[in-house]
Parts: sequence; C-alpha cells; structure tokens
Amino acid sequence: MSELKSAEPLSLEASSPFELRVELGKDVSESVVKQALRTGDIGFLHSFTTGSAVDGPGVRLVAWTSGCQFRCLYCHNPDTWNMLNGMAVPLERAIAEIRKYAHGLKIMAGGVTLSGGEPLMQDRFVIRLLTATKEMGIHTALDTNGYLGQRLADEELDQIDIVLLDIKTWYPSRHRYLTGKEIGPTLDFARRLAQRHKTVWLRYVLVPTLTDDENDVRQIAMYAADLGNVERVDVLPFHQMGRYKWERLNLDYKLNDVQPPAPELVERVCGQFRAAGLKTY
Ligand code: SF4
Repeated sequence: MSELKSAEPLSLEASSPFELRVELGKDVSESVVKQALRTGDIGFLHSFTTGSAVDGPGVRLVAWTSGCQFRCLYCHNPDTWNMLNGMAVPLERAIAEIRKYAHGLKIMAGGVTLSGGEPLMQDRFVIRLLTATKEMGIHTALDTNGYLGQRLADEELDQIDIVLLDIKTWYPSRHRYLTGKEIGPTLDFARRLAQRHKTVWLRYVLVPTLTDDENDVRQIAMYAADLGNVERVDVLPFHQMGRYKWERLNLDYKLNDVQPPAPELVERVCGQFRAAGLKTY
C-alpha cells in the first residue's frame, strides 16, 4: 500500500462508463498488484458513476471495476479488459466514496452496484467493499458474467442482495466465439444462485446476427424460468457507443456494420422471455 501514489490526477467520478480510461494503474508494481488481489486492500477501478436507474433497483451508485477475462465481440467498454487501465484505489477510499452517498441512496431506495469489466476478477476487494456497503445499511448488487462465481463462498454471497447475471448465449460454441470462454461456469453459478434463492436479474445483450436467434433466446428463457429466482430480464439493445474505444485501443472491431436492433426485434425477444413466464424491461 505504501507504494501507492496518493494523489491521482483523475477524479474517481466519471460522467459515464463510456469515458475512455487507460493505463491509470500502470505504475503500480507487480508485487502490489498481487497483494491487492490476495487481500482486497486495493481495487482497480475505472470509475464511479452516480444516478444510474438501470443497474439494479432504485437509483444506483455504480463502481466500475477494471479487468475482464471475456473478450465479447460487442463489448462497449474494452478499456476495462486490462485491470491496470483502472485506477488503484485503496479499499478505505472506495468505502469513503460510498459513504458520501449513503444517505441519498437510502432515501431513494437505491444502492450500490459493482460492475465492470468483471468485478470477480478482484473478488477479495469486491466482497470487502460490498460487505462494508451492507454494513452501512445500503442495498448491494453485483453485475457479473458469472464465470468466476465459485470464488465467492456461500456466506459471501449473503452480502449481495441482487446478482445481475449476464448470459450471452445458450450455445457453447457460440459462447466461445462471442466471448473467448466457456459457458459452463456461468451456468453453474446460475444454478448455485437458484439453490440459494438469491434474487437474479438476467441481462441479455441483443445483437442482430449474433444473439437474435429464436432458438437461442428460447433456450435461455426456458432455463431462466426454470431456475425460479430470476425476478426480471433486461434485454439490452446493442449500440455503437463503445466503437470509438475499440478504435482508440487499436483493437479489431468486427461489428462496424451491425445496426442496433429494430424495435420489432426487441419486442420479439422480450416476448419470448415473457412467454416463458418472466418479466422483461
Ligand atoms: S463480460 Fe462485459 S466487460 Fe467483459 S468483455 Fe464481455 S461485455 Fe466486456
């Protein structure tokens, strides 16, 4: 911790997660990074944003972590893939940031959401931050792709009020193509959450030609309905707001020609989830 520079030039608060942020943690030594991951004393954060109404119930303060093991073709925030693109933030500072908003969040029946990137890349930091948040009496949410869900012990899951679980596709080969990783761990985590009666909001990014297949949606809808703990499904229409990040990071963006889904397509997919007995938004 002593190796950390105390005065970061950039505010923790960003106007939106679409703000490009790179190499903010590049001067942190490897030993500090390793210790941070082991203890959770330090987290790597892209930013905090306030006022979100879509990342959990009520008005949310969202902490965007950096680091992700997926490489989704449609990722809107590829600057969060590399953990060291985030700012090294001592746990106490992150807790103090949340404390500033505690009163307002409670009045507005909101809470704190950890999103990313993939928060569970920094599972120790994340669980300590969510535990401190809960101790303040604030509602907690974790937005995750679920791949590293086994890193959390059962009693640690109790610190999370809602899991926003991203399921990308039903088919294993398509999942590998879309994300570079297997789907199995995500589905294992989904089942574990169901066994523990943990409330889940399922998130499904709808990308024309990639995730709009009727059978794909139907399989996920049946699976989610069967779990019994999925309170709602958020169908998130693909957009191109993250494209400039791919360009600035010199990444090979394959979706230049993909348009956001037409309203009729969004309605068809929402209808499929509703037909399985699920609420959609
Ligand atoms: S899981 Fe999320 S942050 Fe990670 S690559 Fe996919 S869309 Fe991007």
